[in-house]
Amino acid sequence: MTATTAKGGEKSGMMKDALNRYFGYADFRESQAEVVERVLKGEELCVIMPTGAGKSLCYQLPILMRPGYGLVISPLISLMKDQVDALNVRGLAAVCVNSAIPPSEQEAALRAVAAGQVKFLYVAPERFQVQSFRHFLDSVRPNLIVVDEAHCVSQWGHDFRPDYQMIWSQCEVLQQMQVCAFTATATPAVREDIKSQLQRPAMAELVSGFKRPNLEMSVLPCRGKKDKHAVMERLLRTPQPTLIYTSSRREAENLASQFDLQYYHAGMTDQARKAAQDYFIRDACPTLVATNAFGMGIDRADVRRVIHYNMPGSLEAYYQEAGRAGRDGARSQCILLESYPDLLIQQYLLDLNNPPPELLVGLHRHLRQQESRSDGAACTWQPELVWPTLPAAKNAAQVQAAARILERLGIVQRTYVRASGSGRLSFRGRLDKLCREHAGVQTQRSLLLATVAAHLQARGLKVWHGHPGELADISGLRLDQVRRVLDYFQGDVLDWLPDESGEALVLTEAGQAPELNVDLSSLARKRRVDEQRLDLVREYCRSYMCRQAFIISYFGEKIGAWRCGCCDICASRSGKHVAGRPATPAELRDSRRILAALELIDGQFGRRRFLAMLMGLENESRVLQEHPAYGTMQQRGERYLEELLDALCRQGYIEISKGTYPVLELSERGSEAAQGRQELELSLLSAAKKTPRRKKF
Ligand code: ADP
Ligand code: MG
Repeated sequence: MTATTAKGGEKSGMMKDALNRYFGYADFRESQAEVVERVLKGEELCVIMPTGAGKSLCYQLPILMRPGYGLVISPLISLMKDQVDALNVRGLAAVCVNSAIPPSEQEAALRAVAAGQVKFLYVAPERFQVQSFRHFLDSVRPNLIVVDEAHCVSQWGHDFRPDYQMIWSQCEVLQQMQVCAFTATATPAVREDIKSQLQRPAMAELVSGFKRPNLEMSVLPCRGKKDKHAVMERLLRTPQPTLIYTSSRREAENLASQFDLQYYHAGMTDQARKAAQDYFIRDACPTLVATNAFGMGIDRADVRRVIHYNMPGSLEAYYQEAGRAGRDGARSQCILLESYPDLLIQQYLLDLNNPPPELLVGLHRHLRQQESRSDGAACTWQPELVWPTLPAAKNAAQVQAAARILERLGIVQRTYVRASGSGRLSFRGRLDKLCREHAGVQTQRSLLLATVAAHLQARGLKVWHGHPGELADISGLRLDQVRRVLDYFQGDVLDWLPDESGEALVLTEAGQAPELNVDLSSLARKRRVDEQRLDLVREYCRSYMCRQAFIISYFGEKIGAWRCGCCDICASRSGKHVAGRPATPAELRDSRRILAALELIDGQFGRRRFLAMLMGLENESRVLQEHPAYGTMQQRGERYLEELLDALCRQGYIEISKGTYPVLELSERGSEAAQGRQELELSLLSAAKKTPRRKKF
């Protein structure tokens, strides 16, 4: 035995002892030992493992094995409390310091840390804004700094927290300490951002634990609602505990009513939601239709099937939702229904979630005006009333998205307000008539009516929303005069409806500046990241690579030649049964014609040009134009040809070579089938048509 392995063995023995002693576990889980060992060596790691994989132990053990205490930065007070309680139950001294704890207790906790009585100190990111805390860290240095839920550092992450980002610029002493980051969110963009925000570009990444070999993943291409309906009908014939995800509340309700199922979404009453959850947890064999609001904290281990009725917006979201199948380790299916209209919906959502910079500038200006007119009082936030006044806005949802971005950028904050004095004003009569009757009349009443009616008319609005102070600006009256006039006409000429209490947006200190002072180029970057995410979902659907291998290698896990062996792609490669229905004789005949056509130009053209040739559309290449099959299948329709071609690819008759640009090649099986030496077997996913209809011209 060499000296290094002897030393390595000694170390792993010590780690195992500590694992048993502190936690009572017999063994490390996948990658835990590697992380612990590398952290103990002093490496800075960005560790990505799925939820429940056991990330906490990866940093808790090194902290315990070293003298001193470790500092854990965690975003949620409830999360922090759970962790501290869990450690204390094991007899491991842990404390947390956050704003929910009285100052005297906070001080006592820090004193205990300084006195060496504590192994773990949990804090929220806001804590770093407190100068005395930064001094504390400098004088009582932790043995490790842990950023838990590190995706919150990233602006591409779904729970971005500006406080997290500021830590590293506010607290220089951190530069000299060992920092490790942990998260379950695995996308290249988020990982890169975490490392750059922590100012540690060289941080090593370790992604592991995402393989789920018991999940049979598949994609069913559907041409539209009819296909989807047929697929659902077929699937639901075998009852199994099933979760069906849709992309909207309305779709969830529609689908549930079509198939007489229960549904769940965030727009239901608490009571109805609870009932749906109980049904899903307790029923022996439930089938529930739900939006992505469903799933957090639902622990049913024997979900046998997760069906995505609509395409998801990202692979991260997809894998997380699909991963709710088969937690018990038994075989389960994850089925994604792919359809082109869904892609358009996702593109539309992407547009809404990525408003143009002009809209942010406009919304900021609007909020500033509102605040100055209401004398700094917060007004309730009503995007459905604001959006018509912002030229760059498409609808209320987009304005809502813009508000969320301003919030993330630290320009506004959400608060709750009691009635603010602002309200909605509408006139009972016609606006043009009001203008005519009151224009030029120099009384307070006429001034208000004429100017405000003209203001509305010019903007094409029926209802005005804002603070009476704004009406004073519009009419040239004083605030008290405006109030009196409103009172006078109330319920007669006009209706003034004061706002009720509700959510409000208030400008932060940074937001008070006259110009919106943020890096708007980051918006374009965010949009590109979202676009890439969506492209990847499409690529996933179209790819002929093992489904899990595709997703997991995108997450960054090193899998080498590992393949799940049970997804639709792996199964068809090994000639196993593929989900779907057998092709009809007519479809088989057409498929053989496709194979025969490809044989003549094997390995020369890609999918798009080959299809165009069959359709008679190709006009660049002589080889294709003079092909005997040129235009011969035009009447079959492009969608139909696409389906057959894709099925031939998926089921191993045609391969796609990955050169500078991908070309179609017959596999051995494919050329035997083309020459009639082997029987062609094909399973298709769309609803069967009797015969492909001939198109009329
Ligand atoms: P994560 O933060 O990755 O979502 P946690 O650290 O909260 O996951 O761990 C999830 C669960 O797994 C916890 O209940 C934890 O006690 C348990 N666990 C972690 N490591 C081991 C192990 N080596 N053996 C047994 N159980 C473990
Ligand atoms: Mg955790």
